[in-house]
Amino acid sequence: MTRSARSTPPLAEPLAPAPRAGALAIDPYVPGKSKAPEGVRLHKLSSNETPFGPSPRAIAAFREAAGHLEVYPDGTARALREAIARAHGLDPARVVCGAGSDELLSLLAAAYVEPGDEGLFTEHGFLVYRIAILAAGGTPVVAPETSLTADVDALLERVTERTRIVYLANPNNPTGTYLPEDEIRRLHAGLPKTALLVLDAAYAEYVRANDYAAGIELVDEAENVVMTRTFSKVYGLASLRIGWLYGPPPVVDVLNRIRGPFNMSGPAIAAGAEAMADRGHIDVAVAHNAVWLERLTDGVRSLGLEVTPSVANFVLIHFPDEPGRRASDADAYLTARGLVLRAVGAYGLPNALRMTVGSEEANQAVLAALSDFMKASAHG
Ligand SMILES: *Cc1c(COP(=O)(O)O)cnc(C)c1O
Repeated sequence: MTRSARSTPPLAEPLAPAPRAGALAIDPYVPGKSKAPEGVRLHKLSSNETPFGPSPRAIAAFREAAGHLEVYPDGTARALREAIARAHGLDPARVVCGAGSDELLSLLAAAYVEPGDEGLFTEHGFLVYRIAILAAGGTPVVAPETSLTADVDALLERVTERTRIVYLANPNNPTGTYLPEDEIRRLHAGLPKTALLVLDAAYAEYVRANDYAAGIELVDEAENVVMTRTFSKVYGLASLRIGWLYGPPPVVDVLNRIRGPFNMSGPAIAAGAEAMADRGHIDVAVAHNAVWLERLTDGVRSLGLEVTPSVANFVLIHFPDEPGRRASDADAYLTARGLVLRAVGAYGLPNALRMTVGSEEANQAVLAALSDFMKASAHG
């Protein structure tokens, strides 16, 4: 080919780089709001962050790591994987860390989904699953839920020979509902061995139900199950971006091939390892959550609002479908008072708000404000 032939493109040739088809089908993820009006004290209850912050040991490790930011981190994040493995009784070689569990959820789709393959998740499932599947060129398939809870039969009915990955948040965000271990096992038993079951246990630390399991045993028993976890919720390190995955050796091997060689920063490795070791800090946060999850659920219900039973660190509040009393009205009312909850229209729940369990002060403030809102809207 001559130079001039090459520099004269055919008329139909695109004039700009074109992304793969799935990329533009993705609605960009919209994070929880974090702004209150000028001069109003902000209580951010929109992203399921802990009111306790991280362990002081994690903060000290982060500060220490700031002294050598010019050095590349350990690409295997060994210290962090070992701290995780020690706390959970796992083999550190089967743990992979990521820049938040979001990175791992995306890497799994990148590794196992080819264009044309299907990825399955539930009606009100975490939005990142759809993004991960579409970004990999796959086709998202959505299974309906029953009573805002994942439905194993509905999931299994939607499995086809093209199903490569099934994402299930357990407990789920934004509903707070969960499936007991026997239902997870029934789901797994009904899946083809060629489909990877991803158990996203971002809120596992908060769950106190006896019939719940985060998934470690199932990962040990099966070849096609992984469990993902995060430091963003009860560990209070959302800003550092730390997630981890426990999986079968072949899956771990694939992830270690496709992940960025230094996907975890040095400060994240150091702070995460200390946070994992500080059990006492977590116990305090979990105990506070148990008390307030119940008080908030009861308190909001006593105002005449419906609350979905939650086992996580947030509650889903449903509003009346009446002018002036809808979720959007409540959202505006609360935000004006510095109480920022999460609108969940993008999750197919246009008339609900998700509230993170906050500090005692924040929780009381929301209960009082919601009470005022209901009274004000009742009297027009
Ligand atoms: C918050 C959350 C995560 C954690 O995301 P990170 O990337 O680790 O911050 C994962 N899954 C669900 C369902 C969540 O709500």
